[in-house]
Amino acid sequence: MSDVIIGLEVHCQLNKLNSKLFCGCSTRQQGLEPNVMTCPVCLGLPGALPVINKKAVEYAIMVGLALNCKIAEHTQFYRKNYYYPDLPRGFQITQYDYPIAFDGVLTVDTDGEERPIRIRRVHMEEDPGRLVHQGSIETSKFVLVDYNRSGMPLLEVVTEPDLRSPKEARRFINKLRNILEYLDVFDGSLEGALRVDANVSLKGGARVEIKNISSYKGVERALLFEISRQQNMRRRGIRVVQETRHYDDERNCTITLRTKEQAEEYRYYPEPDLVPLAVKSWESELKGRLPELPDAKRERFKRQYGISDSHAKVLTAEIRVANYYERVAERCDPRMAATWVADYLKGELNYRDRDIRDAFPPEKMVYILEQLSNGTITDKGAVEVIRALLDEGGDPKDIILARNLAKVETDITRAAVAEVLKENQAAIMDYKAGKAQAFNYLVGMVMKKTGGRADPAEVNLLLRESLECT
Ligand SMILES: [Zn+2]
Repeated sequence: MSDVIIGLEVHCQLNKLNSKLFCGCSTRQQGLEPNVMTCPVCLGLPGALPVINKKAVEYAIMVGLALNCKIAEHTQFYRKNYYYPDLPRGFQITQYDYPIAFDGVLTVDTDGEERPIRIRRVHMEEDPGRLVHQGSIETSKFVLVDYNRSGMPLLEVVTEPDLRSPKEARRFINKLRNILEYLDVFDGSLEGALRVDANVSLKGGARVEIKNISSYKGVERALLFEISRQQNMRRRGIRVVQETRHYDDERNCTITLRTKEQAEEYRYYPEPDLVPLAVKSWESELKGRLPELPDAKRERFKRQYGISDSHAKVLTAEIRVANYYERVAERCDPRMAATWVADYLKGELNYRDRDIRDAFPPEKMVYILEQLSNGTITDKGAVEVIRALLDEGGDPKDIILARNLAKVETDITRAAVAEVLKENQAAIMDYKAGKAQAFNYLVGMVMKKTGGRADPAEVNLLLRESLECT
């Protein structure tokens, strides 16, 4: 897909703020009755005056810094004029010529290679209200409007067209989400927290904009669909026209919204009710407040815990996973902890389509790893405890007892080895004749006899000893 060119505009709600961008209404508007978290400002009533949320500006600068952007000397709000029911004022307060941050870069791991993706700009704007269609946007007979969302603080992060595949776009968005969560300005699990517009073209072809993709998985799917649509047209000799398309999540396709002839003219002009902000002067103080970010944490984990780069990468991608790991690593062998958190626990969570917030507390993981280190349970037993904790909850100690997971004593393993050898003369002959599989077969039989609770390393050792004596 090397001739694919993708640029993204990612809208992230700064949903960790207490109040909206220009008024005192709460940002906790999820799941409320429609139109209850509103006031004259966010309803756009005549004469209502916006007041900037200072903390939103601070968050925007921190995001700019975390994306390696330059911070503007001055930033200015503009009115973007258009009429739509989700925007009762008739204009959206956004930024135009003077975005708060610009010229940044974020590296994205593309199959082992770290590629820089340039960030053109980061700007602040207010969210419009939410239109609710019954069924799909095309078939709905009426539209409902909920203004609870109106005035929610948004950041728009705009990339240069540096992305080369839908998968890379997904990785970019994941990394952006993780950075915003590291900064504690954003909770990506809330519905509508992140919405994406994507520009996509094939080299030499017209650019198509896909509007309002509202799920993480939707971004990759919408791009895959749109690229194959453009490739099919090219193959059939049909010219791709420059247009704006809507992504229909349910049907997984994109549909024409408007073509170039209908391009909008927004008549941007400076918002007279908000003064320009000299934000450069805020930069140094906010720089001091930046937390350790994923790339820096990854390097520290390798240095401090002696773990592999791939483990460090998995463990630092999400702040919650990183914190979980550190709580386990401070009480266990850090390398063992890395394997069990990054490979086993994350693996079991992914399998269940759950995240680390749904896991059991790190103290329970510490207990499991202690039982593993002191030889009470086997690796297999530890995995079973993890699965049981995820599926049923409870206490690891009780699970080990109830499921009889404690490793069997050496005497019992030795007895099982003796029995297996007595019962499998043919396999012994095969082994002596040089057939390697025969040995694995015998190990399997001993494991079976001990209900899987023998230590495989011990079984190997005892079997070899016994076979040499026969
Ligand atoms: Zn309000």
